[in-house]
Amino acid sequence: MEFCPNCGTLLRVNKKDGKSLYICRCGYEKDIDESSRFEHSDKKQSEDEIVIIEDTNMTMPKVKEECKKCHNREAYWWMLQTRSGDEPATKFYRCTKCNYTWREYD
Ligand SMILES: [Zn+2]
Ligand SMILES: [Zn+2]
Repeated sequence: MEFCPNCGTLLRVNKKDGKSLYICRCGYEKDIDESSRFEHSDKKQSEDEIVIIEDTNMTMPKVKEECKKCHNREAYWWMLQTRSGDEPATKFYRCTKCNYTWREYD
């Protein structure tokens, strides 16, 4: 099992450009090495993601930002380096009310 270091969601294995990656819906990606990929292939990933997300909010800073889903006006935020160093970090928000997560485009 691998969990996203940013939002705590259970990571899913996805194919991208012929490689297997852990891809999180918040935008986090992680390469899978051969050994851990085989270990994962015969296991069912049936964890309840929603429960995990609810446990991870407490230490994040809050900001006034409107949720696109429920129009709540407060969100948690954090920065995430999506690639190896040469790209600027992306800012992510998560609604304090409904836990909807989105990234800042600018
Ligand atoms: Zn994540
Ligand atoms: Zn919301």
